[in-house]
Amino acid sequence: DEEEEPSHDFIFRSKLPDIFIPNHLPLTDYVFQRFSGDGDGDSSTTCIIDGATGRILTYADVQINMRRIATGIHRLGIRHGDVVMLLLPNSPEFALSFLAVAYLGAVSTTANPFYTQPEIAKQAKASAAKMIITKKCLVDKLTNLKNDGVLIVCLDDDGDNGVVSSSDDGCVSFTELTQADETELLKPKISPEDTVAMPYSSGTTGLPKGVMITHKGLVTSIAQKVDGENPNLNFTANDVILCFLPMFHIYALDALMLSAMRTGAALLIVPRFELNLVMELIQRYKVTVVPVAPPVVLAFIKSPETERYDLSSVRIMLSGAATLKKELEDAVRLKFPNAIFGQGYGMTESGTVAKSLAFAKNPFKTKSGACGTVIRNAEMKVVDTETGISLPRNKSGEICVRGHQLMKGYLNDPEATARTIDKDGWLHTGDIGFVDDDDEIFIVDRLKELIKFKGYQVAPAELEALLISHPSIDDAAVVAMKDEVADEVPVAFVARSQGSQLTEDDVKSYVNKQVVHYKRIKMVFFIEVIPKAVSGKILRKDLRAKLETMCSK
Ligand code: ATP
Ligand code: MG
Repeated sequence: DEEEEPSHDFIFRSKLPDIFIPNHLPLTDYVFQRFSGDGDGDSSTTCIIDGATGRILTYADVQINMRRIATGIHRLGIRHGDVVMLLLPNSPEFALSFLAVAYLGAVSTTANPFYTQPEIAKQAKASAAKMIITKKCLVDKLTNLKNDGVLIVCLDDDGDNGVVSSSDDGCVSFTELTQADETELLKPKISPEDTVAMPYSSGTTGLPKGVMITHKGLVTSIAQKVDGENPNLNFTANDVILCFLPMFHIYALDALMLSAMRTGAALLIVPRFELNLVMELIQRYKVTVVPVAPPVVLAFIKSPETERYDLSSVRIMLSGAATLKKELEDAVRLKFPNAIFGQGYGMTESGTVAKSLAFAKNPFKTKSGACGTVIRNAEMKVVDTETGISLPRNKSGEICVRGHQLMKGYLNDPEATARTIDKDGWLHTGDIGFVDDDDEIFIVDRLKELIKFKGYQVAPAELEALLISHPSIDDAAVVAMKDEVADEVPVAFVARSQGSQLTEDDVKSYVNKQVVHYKRIKMVFFIEVIPKAVSGKILRKDLRAKLETMCSK
């Protein structure tokens, strides 16, 4: 008869079975579950190693400090649902403050400590932060906020926060929080739908957006990675997990800090990435897990000094935040003899979307260049960007994901929320990719970054990988330039290695003989460094602006 076929979606799932996820629990109860009641955790084991000082905090230390700081914050007037801004570099205090705020049922909004005064003010006001926890050296940026009544809690810069400082700068000393009597505080009631974290997205494609993540969302996201009999990401209590990626960003917060604590591993916190220091720490602490972003991979590959260090303890190297092409992944493998390589893929709004099954307790064979397989307890589909119809394997389209790990929404922006999470609960990532015959996901590029040459799509990421494979090129970025005939053409910004005499023609002929005609690079601009966000993403919008000023000259 005339009846239409029922429309059905091509939905992709993990190869791992779904598991029970206790996402009714408040975040901190879940994270420290194995250290409570009849849990199997040993509270005297190391939870945090401060890479800057060598100080060690056990699981017992971390939990007692969490409750004390929560009590101290409560005493200063912070209640359930209030927002506290964390403006701190990677440090044990960052971790303790985040946990304390969560324990209290309040909300942490995390900000980049390198932000300028107006950037900080903007986020603090938009998020209605009542308190800012920061370091002495950053207080100058907060004068106006303090005058507006925002409470400032301040750490001493020398890290000696057991000593009360006699400053009368109108800030509360962090020590006052850690010395509070935790027995004073009644355990607050928390609902799984309460917001616990409000990080801001990177701002790669526009202005950063405040992302409301609930207890339920974050617990789900952690469990999808590290829970179950065969965890997708097999962190164990024997692991030492390196953390130089910025903790104010969701990648380090969720996939490193909280996931490490859930599994009883040790988190080695490093304030910033500095290659030789990081290799020194890997050697000294026998680090087993090294989470990276592509610029860090590049630094390892290009460094002649990796051989001076013993990197043999590393069993997992995990990359995320931006595209890591096969060529780079293959090159970095050579430097870590005992490591398994793979990627994770996610966004602030969605938690982790995909994770390499090479990291599972019972691992699967995976391909380099893939960003993983969709995590368990979630659904994924790939939709045609024009029609919205879901696509089968090996066809590229926009990646969409559904599950309890998703954000509640953007702060004060129901329209943007509705544009991102549709009425059926699918979050539209804005990333173009496909799923291959083995369920592995490959990201082609961001929808917004694709260059359109006479209707052909050119992915900057692909050309960048080719450029970087040239021995005299340290780093590169590709953007679109307007063109009367083709609409858009790819042009490259290139950072040459020191002393290199590489010319524009050298670069063009190197790349252009390897690609189909419409992907050929039309112009090359030499530049000192490629601008990147702290999360490791190329700031193509800055390069496009640069291009515009150059072209209008
Ligand atoms: P904004 O949304 O404010 O423009 P942003 O998207 O850069 O910023 P994040 O949430 O930090 O903010 O980044 C998420 C994005 O990072 C994803 O949408 C994707 O484009 C990119 N990404 C993350 N992991 C990977 C990966 N393994 N491979 C490729 N891209 C990745
Ligand atoms: Mg985004």
